[in-house]
Amino acid sequence: MRPSQLDPLFASVRSLPGIGPKVSGLLGTLLGAQPPGSDPRVVNLLFLPPHSIIDRRNRPGIAFAPEGAIVTLEVRIDRHQPPPAGRNNVPHRVYAHDDTGEVGLTFFHAKQAWLEKMMPVGETVIVSGKMEWFNGRPTMVHPDHITPIENAASLPLIEPVYPLTAGLSPKVLVRGVQEALAKSPDLAEWIERPLLDKYALPSHREALDILHNPREPQDIALDRPARQRLAYDEFLAGQLALALVRMKTRKLSGRRLEGNGDISSRIVAALPYTLTNSQRQALQEIIADLRQPERMLRLLQGDVGSGKTVVALLAMAHVAEAGGQSALMVPTEVLARQHHATIAPLAARAGLNVALLTGREKGRERDQILEGLANGSIHIIVGTHALFQEKVNYRDLAFVIIDEQHRFGVHQRLLLTSKGGAPDMLVMTATPIPRTLVLTAFGDMDVSKLTEKPAGRRPITTAILPMERLGELVDRIRKAIAEGQKVYWICPLVEESEAVELVSAEERFESLRPIFGERVGLVHGRMSGPEKDAAMGAFKRSDTRLLIATTVIEVGVDVPDATIIVIEHAERFGLAQLHQLRGRVGRGDKPSTCLLLYKAPLGEVAQARLKIMRETEDGFRIAEEDLKLRGEGELLGTRQSGTPGFRLANLEAHQDLLEIARKDARYILTRDPELQTTRGEALRVLLYLFERDEAIRLLRAG
Ligand code: ADP
Ligand code: MG
Repeated sequence: MRPSQLDPLFASVRSLPGIGPKVSGLLGTLLGAQPPGSDPRVVNLLFLPPHSIIDRRNRPGIAFAPEGAIVTLEVRIDRHQPPPAGRNNVPHRVYAHDDTGEVGLTFFHAKQAWLEKMMPVGETVIVSGKMEWFNGRPTMVHPDHITPIENAASLPLIEPVYPLTAGLSPKVLVRGVQEALAKSPDLAEWIERPLLDKYALPSHREALDILHNPREPQDIALDRPARQRLAYDEFLAGQLALALVRMKTRKLSGRRLEGNGDISSRIVAALPYTLTNSQRQALQEIIADLRQPERMLRLLQGDVGSGKTVVALLAMAHVAEAGGQSALMVPTEVLARQHHATIAPLAARAGLNVALLTGREKGRERDQILEGLANGSIHIIVGTHALFQEKVNYRDLAFVIIDEQHRFGVHQRLLLTSKGGAPDMLVMTATPIPRTLVLTAFGDMDVSKLTEKPAGRRPITTAILPMERLGELVDRIRKAIAEGQKVYWICPLVEESEAVELVSAEERFESLRPIFGERVGLVHGRMSGPEKDAAMGAFKRSDTRLLIATTVIEVGVDVPDATIIVIEHAERFGLAQLHQLRGRVGRGDKPSTCLLLYKAPLGEVAQARLKIMRETEDGFRIAEEDLKLRGEGELLGTRQSGTPGFRLANLEAHQDLLEIARKDARYILTRDPELQTTRGEALRVLLYLFERDEAIRLLRAG
């Protein structure tokens, strides 16, 4: 149960004075309320950092206020001059003075009664806003603030400015944030003294107060203590949650998987190539983990084409030697089928039974697979998330591999963990993830890397060309196909709708068919499973030589003798995705080409992306650049999975804090694994505060 002291923060924003359904709806849009359309909570508002400030400390006196400057004036009200009756487009003017001169305050379409109440003649008020000089006369049109002198202290001299959404007034937002702040409780400290001292960090509550009521303009900056404190809190909650998952899942295991090399050596002997050193090394690391009594949680990173699949297979073979079952889960059906097609024949030679399970296997076929899994006659199962539906039971599931991890969300990961026993886990990702992201997404996971590509690979030449040169390109492709090459043609990504995307693929197909006839194929996401298989199969067998595709082929598809990939409207794709797509070629021993077609004019970011693509094939560099260009959430695919990104922390600015939080989390759990000390109690509150309740549930489950 969430501690009751946090209740005010987790109430709807409508619990705040002045926020009704309309404003709540606007705040929901601004804050990305989940589910969409629901009321955001007070805490969401509280954790909304201002992006800049307005400095109102300049109090030059009326005569010395520079044109265009934001100033604060202390003035005495002399007279009101309302618009003549019926002339609504004439402003209401208020004249006021200080020791240095007179100022006109101008209001369009304002209520006279309200203005007279705010600025009674003869009273002194503080006004703050932008100064403008018209014909030598100082004027302020719609001052941002009008405050009676006795309330001068309430005027924000350094005023935070928040991101907005259409229809939401900044005043309403600021007031909401201030009300949220007023509800924010003092919480017991969860950071240890030395760290607080080292960075001069304020308490969590103080930090929020400074963020929303900055004393100095730079107070809200990422590298200042207030923001650092909050970033650390956010990191620590995340790292602690991940460390708890790790600790608990490890504890559950206690199984040694000892293989004798029998089966795997037969597979190695059947391979048409020798393993790279990287592959050998990674395999050794994985097998060493499997042999440990503790549960394995390892990440296998390898750029596209580095050969992760065979490493997975050999690891699964080791598990089979030890008598356990393995499951290989992939994000799409196409990929599941392809993996199955690669793995099954190799495994069969070593006497292993490999089956396939996706949403498509139905009826008797499905029953037989389920039976095989339950009685243990299936050693390896390849499939989509269908592998972990309720009705699927395993005799002895000892090892789970998740391929192309970035497509799965945290929830699915936890779900897997809860599925029968506590299998060892290997996560494979082709998008090389920078270390900071590994940390935030996976916490303290062990990492193996495939750093070399299989021998004999030729580099991929990447060229960028404008759409106008399409005709020339088609000629070139015709020649290439005549020489026996195979070509992918990727149709533009259409953000708004899959349906439009489909149309563009079909149109391209129709326009190329007169030229290429029977040699052109089409595959897209809306096709039925068997249709997709047929299209992929025809291309693999070289029945078709030009494959028009939507991004369904982005992940993992392997046709080693394809040597050209055309990506249409390349400017619409993200870097990681372009890199993934390009990785579909360059898999064999022939030189390959990637042709990026763009539609001019190119935006700045798109230009930068295409340039990077031309410059490098190094997936790690591309990932780093991508992080810079796109921001962290998108790279991890958190958009698809709905995992909230960071609200207060910034991966680039706060990297060092992330590292400290990681160590801190580990240290905390070695000293206080159940979070029962005084600090442990405070940390539980932190986990709730950042909505890491899942981890707390684990604690209780023991
Ligand atoms: P990815 O890491 O992108 O998943 P794959 O496992 O699909 O890569 O491997 C890409 C291609 O490289 C496949 O055709 C595979 O058979 C081949 N391959 C894997 N390891 C080697 C190796 N050591 N030598 C030569 N080819 C290899
Ligand atoms: Mg792969």
